[in-house]
Amino acid sequence: MAYSAWFQCVRGCEGHWSLYEVIYRCPTCGGLLEVIHDVDALRDRGPLAWMRLMDDRVGTTNWPYGSGVWGKKEWVVPDLDDDNLVSMFEGNSNLFWAHRLGLQIGIEDLWVKMCGNSHTGSFKDLGMTVLVSVVNQMMRSGTSPVKAVACASTGDTSAALAAYGAAAGIPTIVFLPRGKVSAAQLIQPIANGALVLALDTDFDGCMRIVQEVTEDNSIYLANSMNSLRIEGQKTVGIEIVQQFDWAVPDWIVMPVGNLGNISALGKGLLLLRDLGIISKLPRLVAAQAEKANPLYRSYRAGFQEKMAMQAETTLASAIQIGNPVSYEKAVKVLEQFDGIVEQASEHELANAAARADRTGMYCCPHTGVALAALFKLVERGVVRHNERVVVISTAHGLKFTSFKTGYHEDTLAEVEALDANPPVYLPADAKVVRQTIDRRLAQAA
Ligand SMILES: *Cc1c(COP(=O)(O)O)cnc(C)c1O
Ligand SMILES: [Zn+2]
Repeated sequence: MAYSAWFQCVRGCEGHWSLYEVIYRCPTCGGLLEVIHDVDALRDRGPLAWMRLMDDRVGTTNWPYGSGVWGKKEWVVPDLDDDNLVSMFEGNSNLFWAHRLGLQIGIEDLWVKMCGNSHTGSFKDLGMTVLVSVVNQMMRSGTSPVKAVACASTGDTSAALAAYGAAAGIPTIVFLPRGKVSAAQLIQPIANGALVLALDTDFDGCMRIVQEVTEDNSIYLANSMNSLRIEGQKTVGIEIVQQFDWAVPDWIVMPVGNLGNISALGKGLLLLRDLGIISKLPRLVAAQAEKANPLYRSYRAGFQEKMAMQAETTLASAIQIGNPVSYEKAVKVLEQFDGIVEQASEHELANAAARADRTGMYCCPHTGVALAALFKLVERGVVRHNERVVVISTAHGLKFTSFKTGYHEDTLAEVEALDANPPVYLPADAKVVRQTIDRRLAQAA
């Protein structure tokens, strides 16, 4: 088995680099790198053999294949030493039939991929297990300059980096925009022992500083401009197809900010196609918050140019990004997948999340953005009633308690909380309690 993978420029410049080298951008043009696999070597197994191998590994405790990411190791980082791998058996998150919500919007075949049901509560675990594993191998080789790993974050990347770093015993440093991440997201890297730097700037400002600080290669940069993370995150699309017994849905909708995840989604699906496992591609929808919508603006202008902007404050704080690093990769993917970019206002995203919650979910605001985008596309007739739709839920709602509380207290800016359900405060009096219950049940009837 001589599977291999290496870094190459996304814009096609000359040059190959080892995945264990500290390099993030093409030295010729400054563009991002991507991990390229020797697909010809991977064709030594036919589609059926691959499908059987991957299916057999789901749910096993056999290291490292019980991870949804490392169960596809040959497609991720094939030559990584299993002993250096840092995994908490991330991935294999549930993909469930959102039947009741689907019926309400007229899409019976609506599914939600629960990427927030993961070790640190977001899909960022999928990419971080790969990045930290590669760094671990580099550091253990004894020849690498790397002493620590750092990232700028809107909250979830830092939680994932801190956890995987702690699992490996690797020092981590996280740069957060002060006051712009949730309390749960702030406490996660603190608990895992990271050096937590809360800077008086926004995410884009943190990104600039972390790039400067990591220039000398002693601190490894863990942001998604580092394409190792993309290799892990690309398993989400593969996993969705696998969960449908290797059938491709018609649509996949996801919230986007820095645009790494949508690039990853496309990359995984294209690999399945190149290996002959699937023959059609789903259409993709990238959903943005109106307050931070550079991709939406570019899309409306036919992707003629990147339209970086100053992101405004949005409830969807993990996608409050004005200058997305993976813009070029994402545009390429959206073009290949006949993609659409849609946006959601604060009012729309908060009410979409609440509406889904009423059907048993517990959506983070970013999932609210994706759902709101879907609702609009269904109303416009773009997504049709008989189509199979998957919405990617990117984080766990429990990380966003103040969003939920604010909604149900109807105190969120620019939001009219249509489904607010505040608690009822009553004296400890059985008669009053019973009357209140009866009134509520009569309303519901
Ligand atoms: C990181 C993140 C996103 C956006 O992913 P990008 O790769 O930055 O586009 C969406 N939702 C949540 C919850 C996230 O943490
Ligand atoms: Zn280049």
